[in-house]
Amino acid sequence: MRWSWKIANILGIGVYIHATFSLLILFILYSSWSQGHTMAQAAAGVVFVLSIFACVVLHEFGHALTARRFGIRTRDITLLPIGGVARLERMPRDPKQELWVALAGPAVNVGIAAVLVLVSTAIGMRFDWRLFSWSSSNLFAGLIEINVALALFNLIPAFPMDGGRVLRALLAMRMEYPRATWIAARTGQALAFVLGFVGLFGNPFLMFIALFVWLGAAQEAATTQARSSLDGIPVQRAMLKNFQTISPDESVTKAAEYLLTGWQKEFPVVWGSQVLGILTREDVISAIRERGPEALVRDAMQRNVQSVGSHETLGGILRRLHGAKSRALPVLHHGQLVGILTMENIAEFLRISTAGAHRSPR
Ligand SMILES: [Zn+2]
Repeated sequence: MRWSWKIANILGIGVYIHATFSLLILFILYSSWSQGHTMAQAAAGVVFVLSIFACVVLHEFGHALTARRFGIRTRDITLLPIGGVARLERMPRDPKQELWVALAGPAVNVGIAAVLVLVSTAIGMRFDWRLFSWSSSNLFAGLIEINVALALFNLIPAFPMDGGRVLRALLAMRMEYPRATWIAARTGQALAFVLGFVGLFGNPFLMFIALFVWLGAAQEAATTQARSSLDGIPVQRAMLKNFQTISPDESVTKAAEYLLTGWQKEFPVVWGSQVLGILTREDVISAIRERGPEALVRDAMQRNVQSVGSHETLGGILRRLHGAKSRALPVLHHGQLVGILTMENIAEFLRISTAGAHRSPR
């Protein structure tokens, strides 16, 4: 995420702090100072803020470590003023796993609150149910309240809160994933609308949360739609079937000719029935510049190109294509070259298929 700095690396996961989170801390310090608090009180304020910060990190590690149990790695954890974000490598496909991963965050806060309640009771603090507060206000009491609030806030059944994922996971056990997401996203937006409406009458903070929830729901619905529209689709449907191949013994001038007279920008280099590599437009240009027009394809091509099986689905391939050096992958069927797959192809395929899908939400 932009505007964030790495502050720690815990259990192999980078923890980042977003610039806006430090603004929140500064704001708390400023309001403590402007209320005429002493240095000791301001220091206590800082300790309190750092403790909240630690609770948010633990919340995110609840998600990350539960995901790890299901074999899903976490790229990083970023702290924002509205909470933390653990960027998982992917979301679990099994609704039950998603449910556990989503619940693990708020569960950590409940756990922290429970431990603090035990400690506070042990040191003689009493909770007054009539006043709904602790007998003495101190760090423990504040942190218990914060952790209960964190758990409750995150369980609001709306994206991007954990509650949205809980709702989606529960729905997905009974129906298809895209439909579950659609219902969960709409529920979240309805809730955002109500929040915003209530906020209109006096609480601007509620309106801020409402906007945040609204955008989160819309984004979740959009990414899920894009993913599900790719996941069920075999590579065969989006690959180029009419394509030009080139032999490793030909000169790059021949390739340049193909570039000028056709639309293809990447050529599979084929010898017999074997795919040796891929020759891209950039390879042709740099070979001509560095070695002249007589340079051979075999010296200019990219070797060790990953290939794709024609039965694979686009969802998995897209990630590999992002990571691959080459922007084109040969598609093989029983070892035979049957097509090539490029980013442009997939993008084109998506444009065409979503043009149809947008007319009727599933
Ligand atoms: Zn969470």
